[in-house]
Amino acid sequence: MKKKETCEGCPALCCKGLEKEIPSPKTKLDRENLVWQLHFVNTKFFIRSRKWYELSLGDCGYLDANNLCTVYERRPDVCRNHNPPECERFGDIFDVMFDTPEDLLKHFQKAKDKRKKRGKSKSSVKKRRGS
Ligand code: SF4
Ligand code: SF4
Repeated sequence: MKKKETCEGCPALCCKGLEKEIPSPKTKLDRENLVWQLHFVNTKFFIRSRKWYELSLGDCGYLDANNLCTVYERRPDVCRNHNPPECERFGDIFDVMFDTPEDLLKHFQKAKDKRKKRGKSKSSVKKRRGS
């Protein structure tokens, strides 16, 4: 029988950062804003299944020094429904993580290069067709 994963021995990873879905950046201003926010060391961004998230590092105020929840019996549903093995202890919660402004700038540059390449190949197909 498969072993059931538990929280035992975990340093309460899920109580040490708040993730929040955010709109994906569309404009130059959106992108600049996200890059600026990454200047703050407790802020990270990540992409999971094509959706963007902000991660604010910091302990929940109800976590004690032994990494135990002091309001366990009345913890919010969002905590109640977050269980192993579908959690950060047993796998990445992200597809891509951006820790620094440089990480994000690199990502935006790559996306721009890709768009340019796609644009070029589209126009060369049009030329070949003579349109
Ligand atoms: S849900 Fe996962 S990350 Fe959170 S305490 Fe349990 S094992 Fe750790
Ligand atoms: S309320 Fe408890 S379980 Fe929920 S994040 Fe805070 S310490 Fe963790």
